[in-house]
Amino acid sequence: MEFSSFSSSFIFHFNRFRTIANSFLSQYEPLALLIVPLISLLIAHALRSFLNILHDKGLKATILGFLMTSIKLVPGVKSYIDAEKKKVVEKMQSDGKSKREGWQTELPSTGLGTSILEKMREEKRKDVIWQGKCSGTVYIGGNESEGHFSLINEACSMFAHTNPLHMDVFQSVVRFEAEVVAMTAAFLGSKEKTSGGQICGNMTSGGTESILLAVKSARDYMKSKKGITRPEMIIPESGHSAYDKAAQYFNIKLWRVPVNKSFQADVRATRRHINKNTILIVGSAPGYPHGIIDPIEELGHLASSYGVCFHVDLCLGGFVLPFARELGYHIPPCDFSVQGVSSISVDVHKYGLAPKGTSVVLYRNHEIRKHQFVAVTEWSGGLYVSPTMAGSRPGSLIAGAWAAMMSLGKDGYLRNTKALMEGSKSIQKGIEEIAELFVVGRPDMTIVAFGSDVLDIFEVNDIMSSKGWHLNALQRPNSIHICVTLQLVPAVDDFLKDLKESVETVKKNPGPISGGLAPIYGAAGKMPDRGMVQELLVDFMDGTC
Ligand SMILES: *Cc1c(COP(=O)(O)O)cnc(C)c1O
Repeated sequence: MEFSSFSSSFIFHFNRFRTIANSFLSQYEPLALLIVPLISLLIAHALRSFLNILHDKGLKATILGFLMTSIKLVPGVKSYIDAEKKKVVEKMQSDGKSKREGWQTELPSTGLGTSILEKMREEKRKDVIWQGKCSGTVYIGGNESEGHFSLINEACSMFAHTNPLHMDVFQSVVRFEAEVVAMTAAFLGSKEKTSGGQICGNMTSGGTESILLAVKSARDYMKSKKGITRPEMIIPESGHSAYDKAAQYFNIKLWRVPVNKSFQADVRATRRHINKNTILIVGSAPGYPHGIIDPIEELGHLASSYGVCFHVDLCLGGFVLPFARELGYHIPPCDFSVQGVSSISVDVHKYGLAPKGTSVVLYRNHEIRKHQFVAVTEWSGGLYVSPTMAGSRPGSLIAGAWAAMMSLGKDGYLRNTKALMEGSKSIQKGIEEIAELFVVGRPDMTIVAFGSDVLDIFEVNDIMSSKGWHLNALQRPNSIHICVTLQLVPAVDDFLKDLKESVETVKKNPGPISGGLAPIYGAAGKMPDRGMVQELLVDFMDGTC
């Protein structure tokens, strides 16, 4: 009844519209002939942008985004949302503002000379205690004035003035870089009979730069090889956010594919996303969130059969897995010995125990790597060629990485790996014994992620923070992880004791208690409007530095 009256009134209005349009058209026929195609073009354009957004973000996110934009047009709503947003950002920054009091904002008019060293020591003492309390963060064991730590610092200071950009002047660091790359490649499969050329690579400033370069090289290599001009890449949901950075920087469409029940890259789902524009698929060994190795051999097979590049993210695992395998732990092949692997990133500044700012990117052959370089022929500054994102590069860090690898040697890494693997097993076992907690998937290495079905795990994290621990919060599922370092190995028992106590505390006090970040993590995870969460993050960063 209602519907038919609606439809008849619609038809009535439509007919009226048609009559008006017809009389208009007959009057202004020449003009209409011009306007109609123009309007059609406009509509087609709008429709195409809409479809593009739909394609990029998916149906749900597009509708939500549209709804949120509309809601914000209602008077007062935007200012309300902005005010709430500001509150959350301030909470995330806690008392960030007051901390800036007394900060230097201009050069001292008279230089302070060596007296600044004491001032710096004073500042350093204000950092929180990280020794034995931080997940990941500082991978070198011991303290700064002894052993490996002080050796690295000395190596760095010896080469602080050097820059491999000037290879004619600093042959020392040029050689160190080549040797760090060769030694790393050697335990990641370059010595085995690999097909497809000669493995090569460069040192970079960190895992992110290694990944950015591998993605950039894959994009340009696939353009030259297959003529792909609208590149796409497929990343498991557990793959590092450096791939989002790469997608944004290099204008590549990014498909994020959910992981399977074991929290590994889903090979079949990955296959479903491959199309003629695919340049790259990625697997991690292991992934940062849960420390689980993706099915690298199966992904390699997939990459070979479709002729796409395949990057293995060994940022975290590169200096552990080869040694763990040698020690007899079950580690599936995940390096260049796997067919189809075209590039690898491996951080020396994590388990390589080198200074921060050192990583290696490796390629199956020179043909792929050549697409990493930038060569400029028409600059008045002369002929210029540079291998990585930075122009000038810190020779000191290259020297520090070389010193780390040479001083530790294979036996050093084997010894460390044993300690790290056993420490991680104890932590995993200890967590499994806490009834309220579960371990996420089956950790392959030195990262243990855990959550809870009965408690707010972020509340547990807040209590752990109040006890001086710095763990990492994760989502999907809500959980936290600990990345076991040499600093943490002697602290395993303390960690488990504090964790048990924290679980008890949260159990006895259900509901928000800690005044920490738990409510924010909880809310951010549940907010359907991801655009808003993104704005929060940007505002947070913008206010921090
Ligand atoms: C740390 C890490 C990265 C990024 O490294 P940065 O050194 O922080 O830039 C990438 N992938 C994985 C798996 C990592 O653990």
